[in-house]
Amino acid sequence: MALLEVLTYPNPILKRKSVKIEQVTPAIVKLAKDMLETMYEAPGVGLAAPQVGELVRMIVIDTRPTDDDGKPITEGMTELEQKVSYPLILINPEVTKKEGKIKWEEGCLSVPGYVDGVERAKLIECRAWNEKGEEVVIKTDGLLAVCIQHEIDHLDGKLFIERLSTIKTAMIKNKIKKHGYPDKKDKNEDVL
Ligand code: ZN
Repeated sequence: MALLEVLTYPNPILKRKSVKIEQVTPAIVKLAKDMLETMYEAPGVGLAAPQVGELVRMIVIDTRPTDDDGKPITEGMTELEQKVSYPLILINPEVTKKEGKIKWEEGCLSVPGYVDGVERAKLIECRAWNEKGEEVVIKTDGLLAVCIQHEIDHLDGKLFIERLSTIKTAMIKNKIKKHGYPDKKDKNEDVL
């Protein structure tokens, strides 16, 4: 396994649309494992392939809360979130059902140091392939639902800061272009 470089805004690759994966090859499985290692190292709870420069429709996720030693715990997870086995590798993920609305404070490894409230569907059904090429259907809410929607946005070339008000989006983008990113990350937030 290998750690990959996470691209940050305004890298133009993050604006491009990723292509569907036709077949789960060993190279795709290796990319998934490298993405997971990179995500845990960051640390983050989700990562999409274009964030490491690969324009293919694959995301990896582990939204489980952890205790002081970094061990996953179920405390704070919804019932639906607890039914999922982690980590998740989702290939060609698609949201097939959406219900309700929720606003969550999101962060992103590609926009380090920035956190803001984004409104998304509260409950979703997501269809995808796993790393064995088998079809999986995930019905979930909570942080996992937010994270899946955030990562699929990456596959479509969209960042969470582009889901804020037009003024806020422009302000954040200008600030980053002028001053770059802060050195220290706020590790208490969910970084997707
Ligand atoms: Zn992100």
